[in-house]
Amino acid sequence: MAAPETGSQEVPVPADHLMGVYSRAPLAFERGRGVRLYTAEGEAYLDCMAGIAVNALGHAHPTLVKALETQGEKLWHVSNIFRIPDQEALATRLCELSFADVCFFTNSGAEAIECALKTARKYHSANGQPERIDIIGFDGAFHGRTYAAVNAAGNPGYVDGFGPTLPGYEQATWGDWEMVKAAAARPTAAAILIEPVQGEGGARALSTEWLRGLRELCDEHGILLIYDEIQCGLGRTGKLFAYEWAGEDYAPDIMALAKALGGGFPVGACLATAKAAKGMTVGAHGSTYGGNPLAMAVARAAIGEIATDAMLEHVRDVAGYLTQQLEGLKARHPDVIEDIRGKGLLVGLKLKPNNRAFMAWARDEKLLIAGGGDNCVRLLPPLIITREELSEAVAKLDRICERAEAETAGQAA
Ligand SMILES: *Cc1c(COP(=O)(O)O)cnc(C)c1O
Repeated sequence: MAAPETGSQEVPVPADHLMGVYSRAPLAFERGRGVRLYTAEGEAYLDCMAGIAVNALGHAHPTLVKALETQGEKLWHVSNIFRIPDQEALATRLCELSFADVCFFTNSGAEAIECALKTARKYHSANGQPERIDIIGFDGAFHGRTYAAVNAAGNPGYVDGFGPTLPGYEQATWGDWEMVKAAAARPTAAAILIEPVQGEGGARALSTEWLRGLRELCDEHGILLIYDEIQCGLGRTGKLFAYEWAGEDYAPDIMALAKALGGGFPVGACLATAKAAKGMTVGAHGSTYGGNPLAMAVARAAIGEIATDAMLEHVRDVAGYLTQQLEGLKARHPDVIEDIRGKGLLVGLKLKPNNRAFMAWARDEKLLIAGGGDNCVRLLPPLIITREELSEAVAKLDRICERAEAETAGQAA
């Protein structure tokens, strides 16, 4: 398309008038139901990415639709200078379900991370140690796209060109215990920030030893432990929160949630113990939209569906089945699949062929999967997916692997 007449001839205006920050697949959906997405032409796709772990209850879940409709007729928004009963109820519920004593609601994951980081630094300043500002993150991490979030993760692709990096952020190497230990011991250390299961980084799961070790290390040095469970939390690993795999004594001080929390409605939360949040007093933080009645009604409905023993048991059951099926797939296609990683329904396949090409072949098979670091593709299906639907996904993956083998053989010839 020719560039429209503008003052700057060298920089064409994109036809869609969208800032060009995404490389989008040539595919649009009109509606969804359960684990299926449909194009305007009525073509059905099996959704094994769920909007990056957002649509935990699938698409158009009747309970969520009803909550949205009912609240939509009553009240969408009021300022946080008023009491919001549904916000109090959801905060109480999330605290009952977790280690936390208090919640702050946001509109996104990155804002939940912002709140977590501010809470951690404010804790030390309230304790008379304002020099404790260092946030110890990890390579391969993803925490969102705000300045603090990209500085915390340190991914050069997300930081470069945006001016100087912020002081007080560093990244340890995933798996390098000595490095974390040394960083935590410094008198300027404030907190460790980590995803119990890395999402975008390629579905790397922390071992129980690490989860426990991090808790003990933070206690030893009086620093705070922040878990980013935006992707791995809320049932995805088969426990409500991924930290629970290490046992109750190993909870974090602060935790960020989002994604599945609203099942597709934008809402996030920063959870903390009363002690960790001691500096977050009146005026310290805020949000116009965060925790508004519409978001809270949907999130309450979503939590009601996700936080049940039956749902968590279902996730563990289908995740076990999926892992077993994927092991078979890997055995059949050793030249395509190098490794299977992750936990529960946050699964990464480390590939030998290019992961972007693999995702396009998957779309040809009407299967939607996500990309990931380290040449992975991720399977993040709705938690409600059944064994039958997963075996359909694996059958599609089998055909995609065959195609990958054929393409590789074609290249070699
Ligand atoms: C998606 C994600 C975020 C950022 O959430 P946004 O809602 O996109 O701001 C942060 N951390 C993790 C682990 C995520 O998966």
